[in-house]
Amino acid sequence: MLYRLLGRKRINKIFKVLYYLTLTLPPKDFVPFFSLSLYIYSHKPNKRKHCFIFWIMATKLLLTFAICRLIVTVGLTLEPTELLRLGLTVDPFDVESASVDFGLMTKVEPLAVLRPSSAKDVAQLVKAAYESSHGFTVSARGHGHSINGQAQTGTGVVVQMSGVGSGGKPRVWGGDMYVDVWGGELWIDVLKSCLAYGLAPKSWTDYLYLSVGGTLSNAGISGQAFHHGPQISNVHELDVVTGKGELMTCSKEQNPELFHAVLGGLGQFGIITRARISLEPAPQRVRWIRVLYSNFSAFTKDQEYLISLHGNQKFDYVEGFVIVDEGLINNWRSSFFSPRNPVKISSLGSNNNGGVLYCLEITKNYHESTAETIDQEIEALLKKLNFIPTSVFTTDLPYVDFLDRVHKAELKLRSKGMWEVPHPWLNLFVPKSKIADFDRGVFKGILGNKTSGPILIYPMNKNKWDGKSSVVTPDEDVFYLVAFLRSALDNGEETQSLEYLTNQNRQILKFCAEDGMKVKQYLPHYKTQSEWKEHYGSKWDRFQRMKMKFDPRHILASGQNIFTPTFLSSSNMMVMDIPIPIKQKARESIDF
Ligand code: FAD
Repeated sequence: MLYRLLGRKRINKIFKVLYYLTLTLPPKDFVPFFSLSLYIYSHKPNKRKHCFIFWIMATKLLLTFAICRLIVTVGLTLEPTELLRLGLTVDPFDVESASVDFGLMTKVEPLAVLRPSSAKDVAQLVKAAYESSHGFTVSARGHGHSINGQAQTGTGVVVQMSGVGSGGKPRVWGGDMYVDVWGGELWIDVLKSCLAYGLAPKSWTDYLYLSVGGTLSNAGISGQAFHHGPQISNVHELDVVTGKGELMTCSKEQNPELFHAVLGGLGQFGIITRARISLEPAPQRVRWIRVLYSNFSAFTKDQEYLISLHGNQKFDYVEGFVIVDEGLINNWRSSFFSPRNPVKISSLGSNNNGGVLYCLEITKNYHESTAETIDQEIEALLKKLNFIPTSVFTTDLPYVDFLDRVHKAELKLRSKGMWEVPHPWLNLFVPKSKIADFDRGVFKGILGNKTSGPILIYPMNKNKWDGKSSVVTPDEDVFYLVAFLRSALDNGEETQSLEYLTNQNRQILKFCAEDGMKVKQYLPHYKTQSEWKEHYGSKWDRFQRMKMKFDPRHILASGQNIFTPTFLSSSNMMVMDIPIPIKQKARESIDF
């Protein structure tokens, strides 16, 4: 009847208008329109055609109601349409993905997720949180590659900084040798944009599917850090949305307090929406070399020698790893060892050394035009080192392939269902004076001969780290990163279980504390404020002062568990750490 009266075309138009109204009107106004569309739909002869529009309308209605509930819960002053326009969503898929991270050990659901398209969106949301009567938290999430829920929050909104449509494309300033990037940009995309201009950032992480804001909130380190410093030492300027919702530009000259606080600041003082990153001419190719040691002191002596070199006569990247596990080296061998260098691991003398080998990993960048001299340069550098002579393994590849090397390993692990497993990682900065004790007590002691993943070890020069940044490092000129990058596998082997590995991490920390090693955690994780105070040591007072100045309601990055939001007393803190089960059954060892 209704259809005969109005005609099909008109009904379609009415549906479109109603759909638009459900999107734009506040709920109290659009409910009558929604009821009308329901009435029309129920009289429709062929319901299937409008089923899709109707389904979208119903979903939007539900989402809008959920947002209204959010508004009531947290005392927001914004209109729901404004929240929808900002990109705030309670879509179950978005909420689910914001509630977990790479560590896969804790799950915390946010009330909603914001997908910002600009710094203004971020500022508007944080301002709303700062001014809201009840208060709610805001946590920036880059690519969610934290281990212990650092980007999660159960009492507010996760701002999903990475992903389609957020920010803008990197803008390269070739003449000035820097690039401006959105805080949620992934380093792989920064690299690709810069390479189009023959340029590249100087300091990296081993893995490039991490966001700029996420690594700058920690430090961002890899084998270039001994020379260029961490990524936070290679930033000219930042745009930051503070915990008051103010968008501020900062650098060493402009708002320097904010600039230094944010770098390595674990997201506590503001959300980085733009970073200006220093560039250099991009090398074309990389000679990638691995050599083995059975003697730890020869290994560390050579590493320390290599990071003391300056100018052109040095390697461009110095890292290393510990091999306590035959399985690991066999995996690694298949992906790296040159066929020109057949070697029997058993012949390398590790048996005299508690079964432990150390691998020095170095690279030399070059341009095709200088390819002729690269062999001599490398030869001259290698001559000064004391590795096992038969253990030189070399490969040569394009610069971008070297930087993106871990992604290859990721794809391999994903194909075996071994990427999305719990990762009880532990990263430590160990002072140079204690690294031999660490070797004796941990590599040759606590670990046993199973590791469940790579263990990196490489030294860095403290003078390449800006003491004014928020990050803390040991009090010595040279300190080592020791990274236990292990995956928990549900394969029935006790030594690979999450419980076993977590317990072993505890033992390692206890050993360091009892030995008075003064190690510092990198990508730190603590549960109480007194532990955080100890971590920050003499930097704690300033850290706390900066928090009061830039995030006085403690609404930012609450997943770090450093400060309790002021709207929650410590007794009713709502953050929940619910361990989720390990999904995969896997039997092989992990090799990056
Ligand atoms: P998230 O996990 O999303 O966030 C981390 C923290 O930063 C949270 O507290 C969050 O609130 C905050 N944050 C995120 N974005 C912003 C922003 N825009 N502004 C302010 N705060 C923000 N680290 C290294 O240094 N070197 C490595 O070689 C390295 N390799 C890694 C390899 C893998 C496979 C993984 C999983 C991690 C690795 N990491 C490495 C650690 C990594 O740098 C940190 O976990 C980093 O925080 C991850 O970035 P993300 O974008 O995923 O951050």
